[in-house]
Amino acid sequence: MPITEALAVAQQREPQRLLRLQELLRIPSISTVVAAKPDVEQAAAWVSAYLQEIGLEHASVLETGRNPVVYADWLHAPGQPTVLCYGHYDVQPADPAELWRTPPFEPTIEGDNLIARGAADDKGQLIIHLAAVEAMLKADGRLPVNVKFIIEGEEEIGSPSLDALFDTHHDRFQADVCLISDSHMLAPDCPVIITSVRGLMALHIEVTGPHKDLHSGIFGGAVQNPIQALSTMLAQLHDADGHVTVPHFYDRVRPLTDEDRAGLAQLPFDRTAWLAEAGQPPTDWGEPGYTIVERTTSRPTLEINGFAGGFTGDGIKTVLPSRAVAKISCRLVADQDPEEIRSLLSDYLQSLAPPAVRVTIQPIQSGPGASVSRDHPAMKVASAAYKAVYGVEPLFVREGGSIPIVALLQKKFGMASLMMGFGLPDDGLHSPNEKMSLSQIRRGVATILHFFYGLRG
Ligand SMILES: [Zn+2]
Repeated sequence: MPITEALAVAQQREPQRLLRLQELLRIPSISTVVAAKPDVEQAAAWVSAYLQEIGLEHASVLETGRNPVVYADWLHAPGQPTVLCYGHYDVQPADPAELWRTPPFEPTIEGDNLIARGAADDKGQLIIHLAAVEAMLKADGRLPVNVKFIIEGEEEIGSPSLDALFDTHHDRFQADVCLISDSHMLAPDCPVIITSVRGLMALHIEVTGPHKDLHSGIFGGAVQNPIQALSTMLAQLHDADGHVTVPHFYDRVRPLTDEDRAGLAQLPFDRTAWLAEAGQPPTDWGEPGYTIVERTTSRPTLEINGFAGGFTGDGIKTVLPSRAVAKISCRLVADQDPEEIRSLLSDYLQSLAPPAVRVTIQPIQSGPGASVSRDHPAMKVASAAYKAVYGVEPLFVREGGSIPIVALLQKKFGMASLMMGFGLPDDGLHSPNEKMSLSQIRRGVATILHFFYGLRG
């Protein structure tokens, strides 16, 4: 049985794989920081070299307008399906750096956990696909299906280059299904297949008043303060319960059916653990009439992600600042259109702006959400693969986060994405002390091996 041999090879290669993953984690490939471009390019080159080393062909670094995309393939299984394996080598910034117990780009093993920025999102998960392919090629000299790899460097900034890349290299990325491991399970014994992801729309807003910072004793009280103006505007974006007040924001939101709600209510959810993971706020907060699971997966949100202006150093500087800025992003659900939401929100913010300040609004990124049919034939194979390794069928879950490529593949190729994630809810994605469980990587490799062999016709 080739799978038995491949599982054995995957196990033998584990120490080696861990060392290589640590190499990748040491590269601070932060996509949102322009100065990190050399690191981003180094990570792309590392991934490309590794794809070649494990036996894939045509490994190449494709330039885009910004961060390169790494491609490789193995296409010697005629008549068999082709799987496009997706991952991203870029990571979120490590800030606030002082909250890390160990340096974010110095991967550290503590018990079963590997701690580093990108450990779970997504370097530690993309390595699962690579390890499975490596094991099959080493064990059998061939793969049961055709595979193509696309590993990008812009996921954390909304994948702005993929649209044009798919137009330029249309045939190259054609496949029967896309495999994505960039999500998490509900618990170590509760695997999950994601059936929808939310869209995202983000804005930068700047409010300016005086052309320079002013003396508050001379001008204060008679010139409008941009921080005060912006905070008044931001305070009007939600009502006291957390319902978004932007006119027409909810117009296109697809209402939850009774069946949807019953399905969501069946998912195991531990409110105490969830509050603990959130840093123990005294209680939850949000739209009345919806459960926490519904609010975080199936309802749209508007979040103020950042707010800055004036003087915040030690002591006091009695200043009337000249500007204030904020970052705002919305998680969107079917059938909301990111561009429409951007214009609704921009118009509303402008309408709230007091006449004594100027408001400029710039788009940062946007992408629609997407859902995947549970009837897709590869879903069955994926379920059986989880069952073989975890002993239970996976649950079907709506993801609250956003993976831009899912909607793009659907639009450009009519391709469905199979989101088989191996992270855990407490991995701390985008937070300090991000980690990935080593046993989850091990079981992830086994699951993906079962998936590949199960897909063979
Ligand atoms: Zn990710």
